[in-house]
Amino acid sequence: MTDKLVLKALKCSNCGADVQFLPGLDVSVCGYCGSNFERASEAREVSVEAPDLLAPFRVNNDTFLKAIRGWLSEGAFTPDDVLTAEIETKGTYLPFYAWSGEYKADWFASSGYDRQEEYIEMQGDKLVKKHRTVTDWRPSNGVINGRYLIYTLASDSVDPELTAFCEEVPASSAVSFKTEQLAGFTLEPFDKDSSEFAGRVEDEIERIAASVARPRIPGDRWKDLNCSTTIVSQDCVRVYLPFWLTTFLYGGQPFRCVVDGCNAARIKGTRPVDPDRINRARRMMLPGKLALIGAGVSLVLLPMLGMQFLAGAHKWIVLGLLGASMVFGIAGSIARSVMLARSKKLRQRLLAEMNSK
Ligand SMILES: [Zn+2]
Repeated sequence: MTDKLVLKALKCSNCGADVQFLPGLDVSVCGYCGSNFERASEAREVSVEAPDLLAPFRVNNDTFLKAIRGWLSEGAFTPDDVLTAEIETKGTYLPFYAWSGEYKADWFASSGYDRQEEYIEMQGDKLVKKHRTVTDWRPSNGVINGRYLIYTLASDSVDPELTAFCEEVPASSAVSFKTEQLAGFTLEPFDKDSSEFAGRVEDEIERIAASVARPRIPGDRWKDLNCSTTIVSQDCVRVYLPFWLTTFLYGGQPFRCVVDGCNAARIKGTRPVDPDRINRARRMMLPGKLALIGAGVSLVLLPMLGMQFLAGAHKWIVLGLLGASMVFGIAGSIARSVMLARSKKLRQRLLAEMNSK
C-alpha cells in the first residue's frame, strides 16, 4: 500500500494538465488539449504512492480508433470529412477513490391506498349515482441494509461533463496493481485528497438508499419519503481506471471525447457539426413553415379587412395556404432526409474504407 512508484512527469504548458508515465515511454501530445509537449527529455522524475487497485486496459489502440471513428461518423449533421481529423492519443489511467461498504437506512413514507367511493349527484332534475377514486394515506416504514460502491475522480483536468461519465464505472473491474500494467500508458496524478469527497459520498449513499427504498414502499402511490441513512462501514481505496482521452482538432476547433478503456461501446464527447448542412436543412423546411404562417395570418387578418370569415374567397385562401404548407412540408422533409441519408451513407463508406486499411 505504501509502495512508491518512480515515474516521469510532464506538465502541459498550454492547458496545465499533468501527465505521468513509466520511464521509457515517449509522450509527445497532451491528451487534454492536443498540443505538443516540448521534448520528452525535459520530463522530471517523480515518486508517487502506488495505487491499491487498477483495472487493466481491455480496449487496445486499434479497437479504440475503430470505436471513436464509428462514433464520430454518426450524427445527422456531422461533417462528411470528419474522419480526416487526426486522432492522436495515448490510453490514460485516471485516478479514482473507490468508496465501498455497508449502509443502514430507516425509511418513512406516506403510502396511498386507492378505493372507489359512491356518491350521488344532481343532473338536471335527476339524482345520479357516480363513482370516484379516493386515496387513504397511511404511514409506512422499513429498514434497508445495503452495500455501496462509489467512484470519485481524484483529478480536475477532465471536463466536468465528462467527469460524470468517467465516474459511472461498472463494478468489479479493478484488480490488484502491478507496475507492468502501466507500460505504454500515461497516468493522471491524484491531485485531490480523499477528504474532499466525504460530503459528496454521503449524499450519494443517501441517494442510493432512497432509490432502493422507493420500490419497497407499499400502496398504490406514495409521498414524503424520508430516509435516515447511517454508514455502517467504509473502505476507501486508490484506483487507476483506464480511459482513452482524446482531443482532436476539426476546423481549428478542439473537440473532446472519452472512451472507456474496459468497454469501447462506452463513449462520451462532442462531435463537430456542419453548419452549412444545418442551414440547408432549415431552408428545405422553410416554404412549408411560411405557408402555414401565411394560413394563420390570413385566417385572422383578412376578416379584419372586411372579408367574410371562412366563406367564399377567404375560405379558399386559407385552405389553399394550408394545402400548400402540407405539400411544401412533405417535399421539404423528403429532401431533408435524402440529403441526410446521402451524407450518412458517404460517411459510412469512408469509415468502412478506413477500417479496412
Ligand atoms: Zn494540454
